[in-house]
Amino acid sequence: MSADTTVAQAIRAATEVLGARTDTARLDAELLMAHALGVSRSDLFLRRMQDPSPTAFDELIARRAANEPLAYITGQTEFWGLALEVSGAVLVPRADSETLIEAALAAFGKQGPARILDLGTGSGCLLLAALSEWPEAEGIGIDRSAEALAVATRNARRLGLQAELIRADWHQPGWAEGLGRFDLILANPPYVEQDAELEPAVRDHEPAGALFAGPEGLDDYRVLIPQLPGLLAPDGVALVEIGYRQADPVAAIGAAAGLESQLHRDLADRPRALQFKISLGKGAATP
Ligand code: GLN
Repeated sequence: MSADTTVAQAIRAATEVLGARTDTARLDAELLMAHALGVSRSDLFLRRMQDPSPTAFDELIARRAANEPLAYITGQTEFWGLALEVSGAVLVPRADSETLIEAALAAFGKQGPARILDLGTGSGCLLLAALSEWPEAEGIGIDRSAEALAVATRNARRLGLQAELIRADWHQPGWAEGLGRFDLILANPPYVEQDAELEPAVRDHEPAGALFAGPEGLDDYRVLIPQLPGLLAPDGVALVEIGYRQADPVAAIGAAAGLESQLHRDLADRPRALQFKISLGKGAATP
C-alpha cells in the first residue's frame, strides 16, 4: 500500500482482501489496525482514521489472509470478560467453553469450591475464569506443554490471580500423585477426531496436541475420565467439555467409571459439557 494511504482507506482495502476468508473481515481489519497503531478500537475511530496507514498493517493482514487466527496475531483475546494472552502454543479460548463456567456457577453459587483443578489448562482460561469468580479458592492447572504453562503463568500474574501451574501429563502413571482431591475439576481435553475436516485457521495454526484425540476423538476421555473418581472430593463436580456429538459416548465412559452425568448445552444449543459426580450407586439406595 502506498505511503499516502490513510488508515480509513487501508481498512477498506484490507476488508476486501479478507472478505473471501472470513465473515468478520471488516472487524478483523479494524482490530488489526488498532493493534498496529497500539490504540483501542474506539480511539481508532475517534482519532486515527485520517492518519497515514502504518506499514506494519500490511504484514498483519497478510498473516490473517493466510488464515492465522486473529488472536494469535494480536497475541490476546478475551474469555469470561478476562483479557488473556494467547500464542500458538495454546488453543484460542472459545466462547463455547464459557458453558463450563456457567455450569460451575450454577453448581456452586457464591459459596464456591475450595479446591479447583483444571486439566489441560492451556492459556489458563477455564482456571482463571473460575478463580475470578472465587478468588479465595485454591486453583491448580496442569498441562503437558511447558510453553502453554508459561502463557498461563503470565495470564494469572497479569490478572492478579493466585494459581499453581504444574507440568503433568495424564497419560503418565502417577502424574496426579500428591494433588489430593478437588471440589471442582474443569477440563477441555483434546476431543477432535484424527481426520476431522477443520477450518484452515484451526487445522493449520492451533496446536494439534490440544485438538486431536484418536479416530473418534475419545482417546483422552478414555484415559482421563476413569481417573476422576480418584480426584473428586465426595461432593465434588467435574465439568468436561465435549464435542457436540460426543455426549452419549462420553457419558458412557463416565458411567463405566462410576460417574453420573448431566448435560450442558452451549449458546447455539448444542451439547458442550458433561457434569460428572460420583454416583452413590445401587448399594447406597434405601431398600
Ligand atoms: N472446540 C474446539 C474446536 O472446535 C476443539 C477443542 C478441543 O479439542 N478441546 O476445534
